[in-house]
Amino acid sequence: MTMRLIDLSSAVDADQWEPEPVTHLSMSPAQGAQHMHDEMAAHLGIEFDISKLPDREFLNNDIFTLTTHTGTHVDAPAHYGTRASYREGPPRTVDQLPLEWFHQNAFVLDLTKVGTGTVDAEFIAKELVRIGYEPRRLDIALLHTGADDRIGTPAYFSEFTGLDGSAVAFLLDHGIRVIGTDAFSLDAPFPYIIEKFRETGDESVLWPAHFLGRDREYCQIERLANLADLPAYGFTVSAFPVKLARAGAGWARAVAMIDD
Ligand SMILES: [Zn+2]
Repeated sequence: MTMRLIDLSSAVDADQWEPEPVTHLSMSPAQGAQHMHDEMAAHLGIEFDISKLPDREFLNNDIFTLTTHTGTHVDAPAHYGTRASYREGPPRTVDQLPLEWFHQNAFVLDLTKVGTGTVDAEFIAKELVRIGYEPRRLDIALLHTGADDRIGTPAYFSEFTGLDGSAVAFLLDHGIRVIGTDAFSLDAPFPYIIEKFRETGDESVLWPAHFLGRDREYCQIERLANLADLPAYGFTVSAFPVKLARAGAGWARAVAMIDD
């Protein structure tokens, strides 16, 4: 039996359009040599002749400036607010989450034909019947919306399908703790939510997926990619968040493992 790995991550790329632009300062190995020389001289009083280095190069470095919600990342309960009605104390930050939540059997629901807006619990239930799968405790639920086709463009942030509160609650009722999406958010796009709220005055349209996380402890993986390459179920997903102390989210390299 061989195992196939499928990369489910989108890149952190300073060349792509982002509402909060990413900056990427790259130091070449030659610049690294000069930097090392200058630091040694300033802090240790050592004069180092960089021409003695092989190829006159030291080491490269990269400095990124980006939010924790850039690229594929895990939203921790602390992202959703300061209240956690399900436990004593504050909601957990990304460095405090159980690792086993992020290495589990997974299944994919097809939301590609819905368009901008949300789906509800009834949609999810029907989709599970269509693929013939009954979710199990700690499964990772993946939402294939097709939004990753628009990565790097403004439309990626304003056109996609999210979940309403009933859909999230339905998945959590099955013992799911991690819901992933290839879209920017598990909720509908900002402009869609604002427009719906203006029309209806209904507060339940305001980020219901995120706000449900104040009453039910769960995580989202946002900005996944390549979900079209997956079978509906029968594979494992690994998406451990980077251990950022006291942070509400952390980047992840999400990978699917399929036994052939
Ligand atoms: Zn996020």
